[in-house]
Amino acid sequence: MERSQELFDRAQKVLPGGVNSPVRAFRAVELCPRFIERADGAYIYDADGKHYIDYVCSWGPMLLGHNHPAVREAVERAVKDGLSFGAPTQREVEMAELMVEMVPNIEMVRMVNSGTEAVMSALRLARGATGRDKLIKFEGCYHGHSDCLLVNAGSSALAGGHPSSAGVPEDIVKHTLTAQYNDLASVEVLLEEYHGQVACVIVEPVAANMGVVGPAPGFLEGLRALCDKHGALLIFDEVITGFRLASGGAQEYFGVRADLVTFGKIIGGGMPVGAYCGSRALMEQVAPCGPVYQAGTLSGNPVAMAAGLAQLRYIQAHPEVYAALEKYAKELAEGMRRAAAKHGAGVAVNQIGSLVAPFFTPSAVTTFLDAKGSDVGRYARYFKGMLERGVYLAPAQFEAMFVSTAHTREDLECTLEAVDEVFAEG
Ligand code: PMP
Repeated sequence: MERSQELFDRAQKVLPGGVNSPVRAFRAVELCPRFIERADGAYIYDADGKHYIDYVCSWGPMLLGHNHPAVREAVERAVKDGLSFGAPTQREVEMAELMVEMVPNIEMVRMVNSGTEAVMSALRLARGATGRDKLIKFEGCYHGHSDCLLVNAGSSALAGGHPSSAGVPEDIVKHTLTAQYNDLASVEVLLEEYHGQVACVIVEPVAANMGVVGPAPGFLEGLRALCDKHGALLIFDEVITGFRLASGGAQEYFGVRADLVTFGKIIGGGMPVGAYCGSRALMEQVAPCGPVYQAGTLSGNPVAMAAGLAQLRYIQAHPEVYAALEKYAKELAEGMRRAAAKHGAGVAVNQIGSLVAPFFTPSAVTTFLDAKGSDVGRYARYFKGMLERGVYLAPAQFEAMFVSTAHTREDLECTLEAVDEVFAEG
């Protein structure tokens, strides 16, 4: 760990917390973060020559594992043609065409550079299109760090103790209403109280920033019906679930239609990309067609588009990847449950598609309140034990484990062996 420690010492002098995104600082587990030199397939390699089976997968986008040849070669080819033009390119057209083909209920796409930007822009569009100001989000869901959405947020905002950020004016967040995930009544009450004022309901179709909590039967369908009844738009934030649960994302997986869909990192295959998408009627409200302004110098960047296109084309050509991802994740979750039962560890494990999360609580986790009931001290001990055994997990409870197509049976067995040893320690 010497080299990582040395780099972390230097980093803390010039980067707040030594990092460029808070969760990476390993604060929740009180360790020195591993500085990563490279990654390949299911493995990441740190500056001290150690390697780990990686279940962070860059927080989701590495669906095909790290350094996938199809993606890397596409990037290498694109780099040779120049890095950025600030003008339209063929790759952007192909990317939008492919997304429209793969994702249900979308006719148009606007590319941006991150998930945060995608959601912030979709929200502006929802407000512009409806002429309403209020939005409903769910406690413990994370939608990036734009002002309106940093209210009762999940992920490292929650783990770091600031689910509602300082620096966001009260005047702005007065329009952000918070409901409870998997509780339709909490949404209905708000829609009725603020009748005719709610522009949209935004939801992570699978809540993956409070650990992983899936939608209860009827929850997403109920949101659809409530939005229709009250003239609000339904936004699926698919930054995590898009192209991961299924090639058509959560809309396909759960069979529920959203009005606007946001995507992030996964459509960049590891490059900084995001997008918001919807019907032609909605998307043509955006500049230069309509009055909702949104722009970006680097949006649709040719290198990022090349990476994203390669990843999405691979998925489209290999639809069998989803069954394989789900099989691995299911076996992982079942193995973790078995180990927990064997050692009387009191752990609930949630799994949906290739998303997995253990909670250090004996009872089932179906709500944010349940998720918050997890013993984060025990999570930290589990994290350390796994890291020592060569398994790299999210360094905080309120995140997901991401499985990639590069994870092998041998990786699964190694992981479960480590889980067994760690749970045995209590
Ligand atoms: N929405 C969701 C559901 C996310 O999980 C995240 C980040 N993990 C974001 C939005 C923000 O994306 P980014 O970090 O690329 O800004």
